[in-house]
Amino acid sequence: MLDVGPGRTADGYRVELLATIGGPDPVHGVEGVGLLRTEFLFLGRSRPPTVEEQRVAYREVLAPLTGRKVVVRTLDAGADEPIPYAATGSALGVRGIRIARARPDLLRDQLEAIARAAADTGAVPWVMAPMIATPAEAAAFATAVREHGLTTAGAMVELPAAALRAADIASEVDFLSVGTNDLAQYTFAADRHRAELADLLDPWQPALLDLVAHVAAVPTHVGVCGEAAADPLLALVLTGLGVDSLSMPPASLPAVRTILAAHTLAQCQELAAAVRRATTPTEARAAARRLVLD
Ligand code: PEP
Ligand code: MG
Repeated sequence: MLDVGPGRTADGYRVELLATIGGPDPVHGVEGVGLLRTEFLFLGRSRPPTVEEQRVAYREVLAPLTGRKVVVRTLDAGADEPIPYAATGSALGVRGIRIARARPDLLRDQLEAIARAAADTGAVPWVMAPMIATPAEAAAFATAVREHGLTTAGAMVELPAAALRAADIASEVDFLSVGTNDLAQYTFAADRHRAELADLLDPWQPALLDLVAHVAAVPTHVGVCGEAAADPLLALVLTGLGVDSLSMPPASLPAVRTILAAHTLAQCQELAAAVRRATTPTEARAAARRLVLD
């Protein structure tokens, strides 16, 4: 992959364009990593990985990216398949940060491994928790992160409750990252793996965009790391809403970078305003296309 440099609008407004990755394979030539999913270390085994095992894996990701932003997400297993030592296998049950209720040792070990990998490499990873529902959960997570000597703690906004109270959550952590995949699932009560409900899970749904806009208005770092960030047109809308980083599969980065570089921040804001007036996903897309093609 080529080094593509930092993301910018046509008038030079910075939007970080980051990679979403789900494994230990290091990525090169990216501005940074906006979401490292860590489930690969925990799934399909009867016992959790040791601190040392995890440390090696995190080090592999962090080492080539020292000096760049890397956002490590703590364990979010448990939505689709149970993990025998911790989580239920239910989207409405014990998953994400809730795993730490019964197994705080799993979170502590993971944070310890991330901290050791950071010390090994000189990297300064940002660490965020999935499935945060309340400011109290965010505060407890931030405390745990700092107790391990890690400096930057964040909360994913994936639940409508978290989106509605994003300002209160933001005051407990250093950044927010909107996971639009789960935010859509929980806003529409639509299982994200059900293809026949794709219309409800459409990231252009006005209700979803209202929640994202509400979060983006909070004066803190707000990223988007769900699938929505990989849609070039929607990336412009998210930029116009005030989102300052977009994380997506590496293959999606060039198209988003190109469209962003061809539009000013004011155009993105105009696009976002037009899209927010729409009452259906089809209308929202059409409104955005009209302005981009004009
Ligand atoms: C999301 O929910 O949008 C997200 C990025 O997390 P995951 O897809 O891993 O649940
Ligand atoms: Mg999620």
